[in-house]
Parts: sequence; C-alpha cells; structure tokens
Amino acid sequence: MEEKIISQERIIAPILLNEEKQDIEELTIRPTRLSEFIGQKALKDSLKIFIEASKKRGEPLDHVLFSGPPGLGKTTLAHIIAHEMGSDIKSTSGPVLEKPGDLAAILTTLKKGDILFIDEIHRLNSVIEELLYPAMEDFEIDVMIGEGPSARSIKLTLEHFTLIGATTRVGLLGSPFRDRFGFTSRLNLYSVPELVEVVSRSASILQIPMTQEGSLEIARRSRGTPRIANRLLRRVWDFALVRAEGKITQDVADAALTMLGIDRLGLDELDRRILTIISGDFGGGPVGVKTIAISVGEEVRTIEEVYEPYLIQIGFIKRTPQGRETTPAAKEHVGIG
Ligand code: ADP
Repeated sequence: MEEKIISQERIIAPILLNEEKQDIEELTIRPTRLSEFIGQKALKDSLKIFIEASKKRGEPLDHVLFSGPPGLGKTTLAHIIAHEMGSDIKSTSGPVLEKPGDLAAILTTLKKGDILFIDEIHRLNSVIEELLYPAMEDFEIDVMIGEGPSARSIKLTLEHFTLIGATTRVGLLGSPFRDRFGFTSRLNLYSVPELVEVVSRSASILQIPMTQEGSLEIARRSRGTPRIANRLLRRVWDFALVRAEGKITQDVADAALTMLGIDRLGLDELDRRILTIISGDFGGGPVGVKTIAISVGEEVRTIEEVYEPYLIQIGFIKRTPQGRETTPAAKEHVGIG
C-alpha cells in the first residue's frame, strides 16, 4: 500500500501539533485495523457493514465524512478504511488546495478504488468545492485550459475513487456538499476507560512499564482525546526515566503531569485562563467567543474547536445565544466564587 503525504498543515493548538502525526513512533502506535480502533462503537459497527457491503458488491466505497474535535481518530479511520479495502490512500488538506489545478492534479492520478483523504475539508475554497461536486458524483471534472479569450474548458473522466473528508466544523459545510457523502459520522470524546485502553495499548507497543493506576491517571487527564493521551504518555515516560525508576505509577504520572501544568481534570494553562477570564473579568458571562479569544491571545477557531468541546463536556462552559458562560463548578475549579 502506497501513501503519499501531499501536504499537511500545522494544526492549531500547540498541544496538537500535526508533526506528531508523522513521527515514526506515532505510526507504530496508530491502529491499522478497525478491530484495533478503541471506542466509537456505533461508528465502528456501521462502518464495518458499509465496508463489507461494498466489498461484496465489488464496488469502491461511497464517499465518507468524519467530523469531531482534533485528535479523536478521523485520519486514523481514513487509513484504516484504506487498509481494510486494500486501497491506496493519498492525503491532503483543505487549505492546501488553492487552485483548481491542485485538485485536478491529484484527482487524475487516482486509480479505481483509491482513497483521497482531505483533512480540514471545511476549509476548501468555494471554487475547489464546486469542482469536487461533479468529481464525487459523476467522476468527471471540468478544467480550464489557457487564459483569456482562448481559454476553454475540457472534461476529464476520473476513475471511481472514494473521497474521505475530515472536519472539526461540520456546520461550516453546506448541505449540497454534505449530501454528497454516502456515509457521515461524528466522533465523540472518549470515556476514561476507553482512554485507559488507548494508553495501555500504546505503552505495551512501546514497551513502557506502567501500572494500571498510572494509565488511569494519564487517561483521566487526557481531555477525552487519544492523541493527547499518547502525547502525555510520552512526556510521563520521559519523566519516569529521569526522575523515577523507569516505571509509570500513579504518583509518577501525577508528578509529571503537574509539572507540565496539566491539572487533575486535564486542563492546561490556557483552559484555566479561559475559565478565569469568563468567571472573573466578565462575571461568569455571557461573553462572546471573539472577546475570549482576544483576551487569551488565541484564534477563535482554536478556542471553538480545541478548547471548548472538552470544557463543555465536563460541564464547565455553557454556550448560550448571548455567548459563553461558566458554571459554578468551573468557578470553583479556578477559585473564583
Ligand atoms: P484526527 O484526524 O481526528 O485529528 P488522528 O486520527 O490523527 O486524529 O488521531 C490521533 C492519534 O490518536 C492517532 O494517530 C492514534 O495514535 C490515536 N488514536 C486516535 N483514535 C484512536 C483509537 N480509537 N484507538 C487508538 N488510538 C487512537
């Protein structure tokens, strides 16, 4: 199976650097089969049927769209699908495809059954998006040749490929686009027991000695996100090697994570600043997300896509039509009564 990374953009929050996706260690712990993919049971069950049915029919898979916060396994699932289907996969991302020619160049190299993975598909510009419609539906694209009065459009026929899109903001995709995907699914934040499984699996592959309590401590502080769980595992492992006896126990995990500024609920410095600003400076809200973003010096996108989902999930922030509010539990957590 061949994989070409055409381009990958840096993801927004520092904790979720995309470079991590590419490092070798990351590739060794990334599940390659559906049976190794932890959690997301309903999604896996329907995906299994979807894949089996397409294999039975002997046809390429219909287009797939995954949505959900970063680090939950959308890219991993795209690769798993390719593996399960025995197909090649090419990866790119929304903001990288600037000109129609960029898209045409990729589409015309795809063979029957190949997968084109587009990360951050909500960030495609409208020209490219419209070019994708006939490509997805009729497997053809119109490309303009030449410029000015002599420019003309020619139709290129494509092989029957499968598009897999991933987005952190499904709401930003128009319904004509969404409707062109035969399978759409949202990934949810993971439970602590599921993250224990993720951490234990990675530790066993990387041969990191760890107690059950140690993995529980890391899982609890991973904000529902496997990528963060794996990242924290590595940082705790560094700490265990230098400061402890090379084994991750609950105490070692606690000391390491506390040193990294990650509190008992998995919140980092920026989470706490967001909560403190809403609770303190704005009296608990409601306050608009733009104001929050400016106050903490982050992009609105980062706040909405990376920080908020977990803060909402643990009941610390409420989204109201007037803006964001913090709950009493959040105020207590940051010591503002
Ligand atoms: P996304 O594309 O949603 O940002 P990724 O697919 O890059 O997320 O996932 C980040 C990393 O987290 C993966 O490379 C993998 O190591 C790990 N991971 C994600 N989901 C799972 C899962 N369900 N089971 C085990 N590991 C997972």
